[in-house]
Amino acid sequence: MKSPIVIAIDGTSASGKSTNAKLVALALGFVYVDTGAMYRTLAWHCLQTGVDVQQPRAVAAACRRWKTALTCVDNQVRLLVDGYYPEKEVRSDATSAAVSLVAAVPQVRKWMKQKQRECLKFGNLVMEGRDIGSNVFPETDFKFYLDARLEERARRRAADGVNENLAARDQRDSQRAVAPLMIPLGARVINNSQMTAAETSALILEEIRRRLGSDGAV
Ligand code: C5P
Repeated sequence: MKSPIVIAIDGTSASGKSTNAKLVALALGFVYVDTGAMYRTLAWHCLQTGVDVQQPRAVAAACRRWKTALTCVDNQVRLLVDGYYPEKEVRSDATSAAVSLVAAVPQVRKWMKQKQRECLKFGNLVMEGRDIGSNVFPETDFKFYLDARLEERARRRAADGVNENLAARDQRDSQRAVAPLMIPLGARVINNSQMTAAETSALILEEIRRRLGSDGAV
């Protein structure tokens, strides 16, 4: 049996990773995995339970004790906490401000990598994040890195009603010691400042189909 295909889509905050990863997954019939949502869910859980997100040891202990279930519904992976998916809560300003602190804790990254690799049990994947091509699935042949001008990314977030310091989050994500945000070796870099999501996803799909060749009937 062929092993599942993994499409890794990494990039800066608000560079269009989620929108494009969803479009690509839908077009190919692959399972979509939002790894940022997994980190956000842990950050939300820490805030809910009074864990100080500035204290890496406290966060690591909370992660160790955390009881979750990895599920796949409608071709989308979700991490459930006590059977609940905190879809709205993970987008709050408080969670957004805490998430890159939680994501910098080495034990958290180890735990997440294991869960993310476990997603292979659901089949072919389109997985988006910050370290998918560089750390979680470095062996995949399908790596993309999305970026856009900071002003354009801030404009996109503002259009969603979110005002946050994207540059500060990107800086924390790029400067952490373990699995920082970086352009993975061999990744196709797409700056989509002046592109629509339809154009960006078409470019990604074209590249995937070209690389899969005639035998890759997806
Ligand atoms: O993609 P999203 O903005 O939801 O990601 C939230 C945060 O989760 C990022 O800023 C980063 O700190 C963390 N993250 C990560 N590695 C990933 C995905 C997200 O560190 N693979």
